[in-house]
Amino acid sequence: AEARALYTAARPNSAALHEKAVAVMPGGNTRSVLAYGPFPTAMTRGEDCRLWDLDGREYLDLCGEYTAGLFGHSEPRIHDALHAVLKRGTNLAAVGEGEVKLAELLCGRFPSLQKVRFTNSGTEANLMAQTAARAFTSRRTCMVFRGGYHGGVLTFPLAGPSPATLPLPFVMANYNDAADATKVARDNASDLAAIIIEPMLGGGGCIPARPDFLQTLRDLADETGALLVFDEVMTSRMSGGGVQQRLGITPDLTALGKYIAGGMSFGAFGGRDDVMALFDAKLPHAGTFNNNVLSMAAGKVAMGEIFTPEAAEKLFTRGESLRARLNEVGKGLPFGFTGMGSMMTVHFRDPLPEAPYAASAEEESLRELFFFDMMAAGIYLARRGMVALSLPVADSDFDRFVAAVGEFVEARRELL
Ligand code: PLP
Repeated sequence: AEARALYTAARPNSAALHEKAVAVMPGGNTRSVLAYGPFPTAMTRGEDCRLWDLDGREYLDLCGEYTAGLFGHSEPRIHDALHAVLKRGTNLAAVGEGEVKLAELLCGRFPSLQKVRFTNSGTEANLMAQTAARAFTSRRTCMVFRGGYHGGVLTFPLAGPSPATLPLPFVMANYNDAADATKVARDNASDLAAIIIEPMLGGGGCIPARPDFLQTLRDLADETGALLVFDEVMTSRMSGGGVQQRLGITPDLTALGKYIAGGMSFGAFGGRDDVMALFDAKLPHAGTFNNNVLSMAAGKVAMGEIFTPEAAEKLFTRGESLRARLNEVGKGLPFGFTGMGSMMTVHFRDPLPEAPYAASAEEESLRELFFFDMMAAGIYLARRGMVALSLPVADSDFDRFVAAVGEFVEARRELL
């Protein structure tokens, strides 16, 4: 309660904005992930990996726009690309060079991508991947995993179906549970169109899939005739060619999104030539902004010049070392971070989870306390305690975060 009161007192302008917002937007926001009590902090400006809120407070941005903000807030090469597009005009109602160049870049990097198409968001990319799988196999059921998130209408909470999830034929299996996945796939084999998985649960707590589990899914897809779909909307940053390249397990289709267009809105889906050939004629896939020139131009620079495979490898290694340092701080306590490379999430249990779990009320309140304490220290994370590193985050910022986490552990030790 004390941490909450401190948070509230320091942010009168965010509180006032929230009051106006709830009058015109249910929940006072247009992104459910930003709905948290007592009111969300409103940001007004960003530079590199710094953010400033409406009350003039400065933060180290470790939220990284939930992985979409990989390049920080002021990458000059991306800004130049965007300005150049603005000079040429933005809504051309035509195919253009930008989309071809970005498609070439992505197909050259992600092992599963023989052909690719663009969307406006990761949600749409997943919807289209499913549509493609259903059309290609002439089957309807998609297997998904409890704790998985593929977009607002494709949410699969542990506790049971989300009221927001599309009423499509889904069957659910347990994440990282090969025996359960095998049973569910075989029980539904005759109608199984796709097996869809995040190679690491992102929103579900940065819990990586075990490589042998993903290999089991690859084998099950082959056995049943279903398509294996990797939702790499968040995890594509884990190497030049995503987790699929890192592990050498190639899905039939892949969904991409988030940072790839340099911070502009983006999604993409693609994969096997024979599946994607459906879009030559049989399957329409329209969308006014699918090839919007801002996203295409920023993406070309972002992926071609900045987040090269070498840069991806370097960020992965730096993230691994940061997580190791953080877990040293909480050693022996029910406190630590799971994740992979530049993405990690805090958990209040020992040992750290290898599958999604139902958090206790105590764990939930510790998570809230962690968020408020980090905000008080000027460190901005996702409310759920997720970190997504951006390229401008420096080693000295790591030191600062590790120190803040150390202070949290010391100050709150009796609560852990
Ligand atoms: N898939 C995963 C794994 C995600 O984490 C997200 C967003 O957080 C999505 C899909 C949806 O992407 P978007 O928010 O761009 O619709």
